[in-house]
Amino acid sequence: MIDQINAILPQTQCRKCGFQGCRPYAEAIASGLADINQCPPGGELGIVELARLLNIDPKPLNPEYGEYKPKQVAFIIEDMCIGCVKCIAVCPVDAILGAAKFMHTVIASECTGCELCIAPCPVDCIVMHPLSLTIQSQSLVQKDKYPDSQLAKKRYDARCLRKAKEVEEKAERAKQKKAELGMLKK
Ligand code: SF4
Ligand code: SF4
Ligand code: SF4
Repeated sequence: MIDQINAILPQTQCRKCGFQGCRPYAEAIASGLADINQCPPGGELGIVELARLLNIDPKPLNPEYGEYKPKQVAFIIEDMCIGCVKCIAVCPVDAILGAAKFMHTVIASECTGCELCIAPCPVDCIVMHPLSLTIQSQSLVQKDKYPDSQLAKKRYDARCLRKAKEVEEKAERAKQKKAELGMLKK
């Protein structure tokens, strides 16, 4: 059931539902801890699909969690970017390219419009554009390349795996260092 609910959710991983991502929200719905109307990106259509799956009545989107907006894409005003990498650290689908002290840019075709990169930017140089207004998006829409939820999920899962591996490697390095220090002391 959790997988079926998760498959309906938009996979932007924006956390607007009050959970750490789409799957934790799916888990909460499945266990009766969350209502079906907490996902603004999914909008009314998402609620209807969830209601159908769970065989319950649909209800309006709860405004406490935000309002439905048409798809957006983040855009970095590159002249203002100071290369602090804070946006890269929070992007759940690795849609930002850049390196420390270098200009950053958003890969429009991978951006889910989650808005998570906006708040951490210390110079406010990230803005959201409705998908239909960006030059890139015009061609993306025409070529039907805008990432669907499954692509976003794939990229999010890959990022989670990479992060888990990084934590594991860091712990292993710390363990080795500790062992080396222990040997030196002897
Ligand atoms: S798209 Fe955002 S609000 Fe909707 S379930 Fe996923 S994380 Fe929650
Ligand atoms: S670039 Fe920003 S808005 Fe786009 S997916 Fe990454 S964090 Fe979300
Ligand atoms: S958070 Fe803002 S200033 Fe920092 S790298 Fe990203 S876009 Fe540039």
